Amino acid sequence: MKQPFIKKNRTFTLLRKYAWIYTIVVAFGGLWFPKLGLTVPLIILGLTLSSLFMGKYWCGNICAHGSLFDALLLPLSKNKAFPQILKNPYFIGFVFLFFGFNLSRRMLALQDFWGRASFWDQLGMIFVGTYLVVTVLGSLLGVFFAPRTWCTFCPMGTIQRVMHFLGEKTGINKNTNQVVTPKVDKCKACGLCSKACPAQLSPHEAFTEGKQFTHPECIKCSTCVYTCPTKILSYDKVLKYQPAEIPIPQIDIEEIPQKERKAS
Ligand code: SF4
Ligand code: SF4
Repeated sequence: MKQPFIKKNRTFTLLRKYAWIYTIVVAFGGLWFPKLGLTVPLIILGLTLSSLFMGKYWCGNICAHGSLFDALLLPLSKNKAFPQILKNPYFIGFVFLFFGFNLSRRMLALQDFWGRASFWDQLGMIFVGTYLVVTVLGSLLGVFFAPRTWCTFCPMGTIQRVMHFLGEKTGINKNTNQVVTPKVDKCKACGLCSKACPAQLSPHEAFTEGKQFTHPECIKCSTCVYTCPTKILSYDKVLKYQPAEIPIPQIDIEEIPQKERKAS
């Protein structure tokens, strides 16, 4: 198990510092103004489309729950390793189906209210309730384990995984999917980038081999980029060949004419 993790600033933009306000407004304010919940489908649409082109960028840079976990919970968190069970694909699939089923069931039950004044409030309340559950559960997990524990099995993360996979398979994201890229051969193998990674990944294992970090769970949060003491990390699109894999042309010296050999 990778330990110890270190607490490093993860909020490098205004959006990441303050997007958590939206979470509080919807999850708690929505109890009085349920129509606030009607903004949540826009969030789902945004993260679905963005992940087709940029993988899990939304999680690390725009998600309001992610902002809550990074900006407010990090100082309070025990910052321990994520429990293994939460990373199990069957568990992740189960949570996705459970949330999907419940959301669909509650929305279908609303069809009798279509056309009535209360319809939009009731629809909004479905999303407010979901947002509240994620806020409370995600915060508890964030304090007792690590801030981004919820993100390991979040149904919105699962949607992004699938969309990212489609983006890769169709090649639609080949110019838009930026990954963390080291300056070749400059990594000191100190491992600080991995210890600070909110997603508890191990980017330094790729960097010490001179490769880009192309792991699909990377949320492109830039924490490793800012943490690296040698400042060798940046973002780049996925290279066709990783530096360590660039093919060396095989030249038979005998095939080069004598004249050219002398000139060189
Ligand atoms: S590898 Fe870097 S950019 Fe990716 S999640 Fe970890 S810290 Fe963030
Ligand atoms: S923090 Fe920088 S130098 Fe240290 S292992 Fe990571 S990339 Fe290499």
